[in-house]
Amino acid sequence: MKTAEYFDIVIIGAGFSGLYALHRFRDYDVVCFEAGAGVGGTWYWNRYPGARVDIPSMEYSYSFNEDLQQEWSWPEMFSAQPELERYVNHVADRFELRDRIRLSNAVKHMRFDEGTDRWHVHTAKGDHVICKYVVAATGALSVPNAPPWPGREKFKGEILHTAAWPEEGIDLTGKRMGQIGTGSTGIQLAPILAEQAEHLHIFQRTPAFSMPSGNRPMDFEHEREWKENYSERRQKMMQTPGVSLLERSSVACSEYTESQRQELLEEAWTSQSAFQLLLTFSDIMTNRETNEVVADFVRQKIRAIVKDPATADLLCPKDYPIGAKRLCIDNGYFQTFNRPNVTLVDVKSAPIAEFTENGLRTAEAEYELDVIVTATGFDAITGAMTQIDIEGVGGRKLMDKWADGPTAWLGLMVAGFPNLMMIHGPLTPGAQAQMLMVGEWQVNLVGDIIDSLERDHYSRIDTSEEAEGWWAEEVNMLSHNTLHRFANSWYNAKNIEGKKGGFMIYVGGFPRFARLNNEAIADGFRGFIRS
Ligand code: NAP
Repeated sequence: MKTAEYFDIVIIGAGFSGLYALHRFRDYDVVCFEAGAGVGGTWYWNRYPGARVDIPSMEYSYSFNEDLQQEWSWPEMFSAQPELERYVNHVADRFELRDRIRLSNAVKHMRFDEGTDRWHVHTAKGDHVICKYVVAATGALSVPNAPPWPGREKFKGEILHTAAWPEEGIDLTGKRMGQIGTGSTGIQLAPILAEQAEHLHIFQRTPAFSMPSGNRPMDFEHEREWKENYSERRQKMMQTPGVSLLERSSVACSEYTESQRQELLEEAWTSQSAFQLLLTFSDIMTNRETNEVVADFVRQKIRAIVKDPATADLLCPKDYPIGAKRLCIDNGYFQTFNRPNVTLVDVKSAPIAEFTENGLRTAEAEYELDVIVTATGFDAITGAMTQIDIEGVGGRKLMDKWADGPTAWLGLMVAGFPNLMMIHGPLTPGAQAQMLMVGEWQVNLVGDIIDSLERDHYSRIDTSEEAEGWWAEEVNMLSHNTLHRFANSWYNAKNIEGKKGGFMIYVGGFPRFARLNNEAIADGFRGFIRS
């Protein structure tokens, strides 16, 4: 057994937030454990063909260093995974972060020692670290969800998950392929698989709303303009309740005539600005009728693009509001179904039953396949924390405490788990805001908290169940004011059979979230217990 090492801070995860945390905490004795063999988190693991960010890259980039944001150039408006991975590696080198990162070394077990107010952290490679603080930058979408269909071992071909795509890549040319899942990931993947496969069967349980991403080579005028105004733009991003700096309407749908509505929706669809469609009317996420106007517009688009009417009908989402799941952003997804080598299979009416020796069997038929790609999403939001065996005060385990769903004051701290702070934890804005920006902001908040605890010679910070209750009320009140709760998704843990969670995302917008966090700290650390 290795001897214990001592650090001030352990960071879990070397994704975008964890890397910035390493930089922010550089004056402390800090170490970062990362499960992957490289840095980048989401952008390390999700290297499936077609993986691409859905926020413009001038926005989806670090803001903490002026030289970095001035010197870096993105080749496309919406960067593809290899470019994001190149960027994050550049950041790791430029800010000399690598020597404090231990790769391929996931944290497995953590125990809080109440006598010393220290965490004992144990890793996959047998490291034992004793530290004062743990900052969990474990990611909201980092544990792949692979439904437990039987027969996996029988299948003679290859089964891949999009979130664990082989680093060396894989040649899919001429293969009989099956793709399971049609969320944001599946929608990016399908057009590329279709180009390579002999035949592609796409197994769909729930159709998705999607709009064209508008990706294109970087417009250098756009880049120059952003670089000249970066500080002002970054400020503006902090004030926007959405995921991107887009035109937001303040006018309700009912204020427009039918032809004005169609004109506005058409403009949004062709705007080359992903997500613009959701901002066309002020009340799209609060008024079902308005939402239906926009949903119907997308259904008409699907029917206009997809030539076979039965396939088009199957691709039209009909039983949940648009935007209630994160809107997908595509590069020719619906057009893919016009190819002769692509078949859509409805696995809602005839669910997937098992893998077989030669492919996949649904309740209706067997499909012969060489490769099956599962684009089945994630054990989102809580999965990365609950897969670590975390013991807090009195030996209570986090996975037990969260058995019926996560609790956390401000989405940051869990009562009974002192000196442990989460970035992108449950009940934070997650994908309802720009995740890179929120991650940076939360790291700064945690940095300020730790600086102040050290300055004032505290040994422990915790929160209370009462404060967790306040935050739960805030989160639930907000989700009841919008239509998000009317879809089954990873936002409410309903993407995985049997998972309990309630509504796990903060839909009040980043500005309100940030204000409430700041007010709690300024108000004498309201909701926290320092000792
Ligand atoms: P997802 O949205 O959860 O989609 C998973 C897909 O797998 C859904 O179509 C789901 O069907 C299907 N599925 C799951 N279990 C199944 C089962 N037992 N049988 C049949 N189908 C099943 O996951 P994702 O597509 O990976 O996206 C997750 C999130 O990651 C997104 O919402 C987004 O925030 C982020 N993301 C972003 C980008 C980007 O920036 N461009 C790209 C990819 C992902 P149901 O809908 O019926 O559950």
